[in-house]
Amino acid sequence: MNGNMLIKNASQLITLSGFAAKKGKEMGELGVIHNGAVMIENGRISAVGKNQEVFKERDESILRQRGFCILDASDRAVLPGFVDSHTHFIFAGYRAEEFAMRLAGADYMEIMKRGGGILNTVAATRKATEEQLMSLGSKRLDSMLSHGVTTIEGKSGYGLDRDTEIKQLKIMTELNNTHPIDIVNTFLGAHAVPGEYSGNGDAFIAFLIEELMPEVADKNLAEFCDVFCEKKVFSTDQSARLLQCAKRMGLKLKLHADEMEHIGGGELAAELGAVSADHLLYASARAVREMAEAGVVATLLPLTAFSLRKPYARGRYMIDQGCALALATDFNPGSCFSESIPLLIALATINMSLTPEEAITALTINGAAALDRADIIGSIDAGKQADIILLENPSYHFLAYHIGVSVVEKVIKKGKLVFDKKQGGIIHC
Ligand SMILES: [Zn+2]
Repeated sequence: MNGNMLIKNASQLITLSGFAAKKGKEMGELGVIHNGAVMIENGRISAVGKNQEVFKERDESILRQRGFCILDASDRAVLPGFVDSHTHFIFAGYRAEEFAMRLAGADYMEIMKRGGGILNTVAATRKATEEQLMSLGSKRLDSMLSHGVTTIEGKSGYGLDRDTEIKQLKIMTELNNTHPIDIVNTFLGAHAVPGEYSGNGDAFIAFLIEELMPEVADKNLAEFCDVFCEKKVFSTDQSARLLQCAKRMGLKLKLHADEMEHIGGGELAAELGAVSADHLLYASARAVREMAEAGVVATLLPLTAFSLRKPYARGRYMIDQGCALALATDFNPGSCFSESIPLLIALATINMSLTPEEAITALTINGAAALDRADIIGSIDAGKQADIILLENPSYHFLAYHIGVSVVEKVIKKGKLVFDKKQGGIIHC
């Protein structure tokens, strides 16, 4: 396969046309073309429109001779691939017992205080070999791909020491080169205070700033820097110190903000010009207003709230206040062991009152914007990378309507078919 393809006869071609985040009311505009077609050359979209605008029937044999794959999307909706802009997918060890404890009533922060939680995963990830982590990561990516995800963000943060943090970032770089899914690396050294620095978060932040972050930046191991800005983890002062340094070193910024309590993470994201602030269950009205004004993407992770039995972030309110919202899974071994895009869409639409259109925008162009990539992915526009999915239904409404079930039939990455439910799943070229 050479990345040349014609997709024709799409009952609905959902373009999401645009090169920047969609805010507020714009999130309801999908840019639907009926009986649509997409021309793809060398992995890039070269033309989009109605069938007759994109190609002439008589030219099809010429296209075939030139090595084009011709895909008939009759009775199918065609959309940009999903972007999962917040995951922690490189880890060893599972925390199933901890999940059972939580179901029995234990509190997440309480478990963390007792040495469980993130630190549990840190111990297992430090011990794991690169080969083990590569193999685990690759399998998880396959599952994401089967849900129509074509780009993800992946965070370090299960090392909390020099070697393991670097190991996690290098593995993600390697998987980015070998797996069809594109991976954007985020350095999350400030995910928790490790045992070695117990009770001394300031010293750990200093270690990250002085010793680890310069190496990450110099070796280009990450594009973003993130911090778990939360009461009893890292304060807004510590987070600000870390992120200001990251910015000076050329890293873009993200924050885990106001997840368990409101401590001002959303406001800090706006003040520092972060690309996104994530979680935001307890974000204040002021934070929402400031984020909307500063153009910070509000990334909501309802699977985590669901898994922790917490109230959902106020997605409906944020959109009504003019925010750009993204949705992501937060796939991780503790607070949210799920990469399920169908369940994510169900929670966003049924429990958070987003419309299906807004949920789709949040998972495509706005997910791309949360990774500072709205200019190259997240919509079906000429010039963009050809990351496209075909549903097994003629309407995008089935994404919300078919609750908890994936309706993704085919996934095209850079113009190549990489997943086909009808051919038994992942296609290894
Ligand atoms: Zn997270």
